[in-house]
Amino acid sequence: MPGTNLTREEARTRADLLHVDAYDIELDLSSAREGGTFRSTTVVRFTATTPGAATFIDLVAPSVEEIVLNGERLDTAGFADSRIALPGLAAENELRVVANCAYTNTGEGLHRFVDPVDGETYLYTQFEVPDARRVFANFEQPDLKAAFTFTVTAPAGWSVISNSPTPEPEGEGDAQVWRFAPTGRISSYITALIAGPYVGVFDAYENGEQKVPLGIYCRPSLREFLDAEAIFEVTKQGFDYFQEKFDFPYPFPKYDQLFVPEFNAGAMENAGAVTLRDQYVFRSKVTDAAYEARAATILHELAHMWFGNLVTMEWWNDLWLNESFATYAEAVCQAESPASRWPNSWTTFANQMKTWAYRQDQLPSTHPIMAEINDLEDVQVNFDGITYAKGASVLKQLVAYVGQDAFFEGVRAYFKRHAWGNTRLGDLLGALEEASGRDLKAWSAAWLETAGINVLRPALTLNTDGEIESFAVLQEAPALPAGAKGEAVLRPHRIAIGLYELADGALVRTDRIELDVDGPRTEVPQLVGRHRPAVVLLNDDDLSYAKVRLDEDSLAVVTEHLGGFTDALPRALCWASAWDMTRDGELAARDYLTLALSGLPRESDIGVVQSVHRQVKLALDAYADPAWREAGLARWAEAAEEALRAAEPGSDHQLAWARALAGVARTEGQLDLLAGLLDGTAQIPGLAVDTELRWTLLGRLAATGRADEAEISAELERDNTAAGQEHAASCRAARPTIEAKAAAWASVVESDELTNYVQAAVIGGFQQADQRALLAPYAEKYFAAVKGVWESRSHEISQQIIVGLYPALLVEQATLDATDAWLASAEPAPALRRQVVEARAGVERALKAQDADRAASER
Ligand SMILES: [Zn+2]
Repeated sequence: MPGTNLTREEARTRADLLHVDAYDIELDLSSAREGGTFRSTTVVRFTATTPGAATFIDLVAPSVEEIVLNGERLDTAGFADSRIALPGLAAENELRVVANCAYTNTGEGLHRFVDPVDGETYLYTQFEVPDARRVFANFEQPDLKAAFTFTVTAPAGWSVISNSPTPEPEGEGDAQVWRFAPTGRISSYITALIAGPYVGVFDAYENGEQKVPLGIYCRPSLREFLDAEAIFEVTKQGFDYFQEKFDFPYPFPKYDQLFVPEFNAGAMENAGAVTLRDQYVFRSKVTDAAYEARAATILHELAHMWFGNLVTMEWWNDLWLNESFATYAEAVCQAESPASRWPNSWTTFANQMKTWAYRQDQLPSTHPIMAEINDLEDVQVNFDGITYAKGASVLKQLVAYVGQDAFFEGVRAYFKRHAWGNTRLGDLLGALEEASGRDLKAWSAAWLETAGINVLRPALTLNTDGEIESFAVLQEAPALPAGAKGEAVLRPHRIAIGLYELADGALVRTDRIELDVDGPRTEVPQLVGRHRPAVVLLNDDDLSYAKVRLDEDSLAVVTEHLGGFTDALPRALCWASAWDMTRDGELAARDYLTLALSGLPRESDIGVVQSVHRQVKLALDAYADPAWREAGLARWAEAAEEALRAAEPGSDHQLAWARALAGVARTEGQLDLLAGLLDGTAQIPGLAVDTELRWTLLGRLAATGRADEAEISAELERDNTAAGQEHAASCRAARPTIEAKAAAWASVVESDELTNYVQAAVIGGFQQADQRALLAPYAEKYFAAVKGVWESRSHEISQQIIVGLYPALLVEQATLDATDAWLASAEPAPALRRQVVEARAGVERALKAQDADRAASER
């Protein structure tokens, strides 16, 4: 029983047999306002290399009305298990399938959303990985490309957007018909349809003769917040940069970006019709880090138009290359575009991408970047920190290895050679080898085919005059968790070593040495005989991918003067190193707090500040000795209030500290301040208590029992929007009562009524670090329910529950034991098993870190 799965073997067999020419797809969405199902008619023309052979086409639908193959009507009983059997193919075939497909509320397939502000219905599709088959019958695999022609019937007056430019609608009356022109040859997963009374803003990218129409869309209720100019500006910078670097004109007829509701991912690179989560239309003040993240997402999706859409992976095992390339491209474009607002993008990359990669790469589920992807279930849990962040880090290293000019020369040849086709990793590496003259087989084996992170440590001795007598870089093999795939190997690293001196509290780089590190010990003779600097920083400039440790003296200086680095990147690297040591139990949670309190006042990079805020909270909640935890949280809350009051009025730092305080406030005085900010009786000069901040404040008041249903409903009345409903659901679930927890649990686990976004909000509210006693009974309920959830819910919905409701806050041996008992008896499918094993690893890590923190208390 394949269920909704598809194996790589099946895909290979089908690709050998078929060549798909074109699809004509008619969708009748005139029922959209009522919901339920819609009529989907697909006519697909394809050839078969072996006449008489059989195959199947994919479809996930409540029912099929008609299947006609080459003029012959087939029994609709041939539709079973998400497939339609196609026996007895001719050399040239025409298949017609009429189906009733379902609108969804999970963000997969054709998502249907009703905006509470105007009561209107908004639709959009999300197809990656295998969900185009929820909207029309198709051969759902990336290497069966075809031309797609959509004809859409929808309520009159709607905006209807697809991959091809929107035509004038035909017909009069309640419903109209939009007949789109055929697309170029693309994969099914990047086709798209967005429909509803969305509003658009228009511009064009012009470059010589070239003119690409640009559109930006959102719901009318968000229109007043849409800063289209800023979005067009970043988009045009991306067009300039990528067209020049890739030497290939943008390959599609127009470029629309649509901000859509309840979107599961950050964005999706549908050809010429990118969808983005509409939290990127900021309703309230956000920090510059949010604008930077949005710009990165915009550039990421634009880079996919070439890498992924024009040239596409043959199978999902090369998903990593698709995502890594786009992630690398977003950072290099921000770093190098002449008018970029975020030239420090490599600091953000170190702060966010690297941290994500390091975390993921130490889970029991870690895997080589080139993962075995045997079927669709494998790929759906592989949109992870290895695929996006480690892959991009390793690509950055590859660029350093072959040189950026050779890298882009290879990329240019690759696009020209494979335009509108499908490729494997070897095709790109081959082009890079030709351009650079380097053999990349050994590089690929060391970096792409093995898992884990090497540790780099300095080993130095001083003579009696305080000069360096010997200096070496020690490399350790990755400590792969039990059960992890792959071999633990040493790798070649191109790194820089930065030497820093301390003057008037400032840490200034006085020298930089670049070298190759290979094997377990690499001597650095350049440093011998020199005066010992205040800080020696390995992997300065973040060229390689490794866990970096400081020698004892450097660590002491950094602990006291982290904020003293005059450059943002070494600060980010030291923050990352300290955080990694905390996670590993090498730095006690209480010492990490001390370091954060000393370093944060001088940290100017707002993205780094916000990361450290999150990390401190996690360290205190999970990694601190429970006997000291409350003292640590109290100290953090006090520091947050002080920093909030001291911050420059109206600054991003002020907003970040307000949120940090709202996350931890615990004394009556602190909660009074939150309540006062909310009801206007207290003020912090310059701090705008706007819609989103109000909900943040109320969330903490609800979780501490200071606000109840009356306050939550009143706030929802002020903000009766979709976002407001999500926040209200979260506040209700956060209340510290047995009843509130039971209601939240039942709404998620025992019912499937909640949309993807409301469910996520309820889960977020349910899990409160200060409510361990209330949450304790749910560990048992979790293990009783989780397999049924996996089997009965869609991928996105079940993943939210499996990961989100795991008893992660119960950092106890009992949680590990319960998990192990379940793993031993439940016979979970591999993808379910992986998610639970990853969650278990968090508890195991926290227990070890708590031991380290306890040991520190006995110093
Ligand atoms: Zn992507």
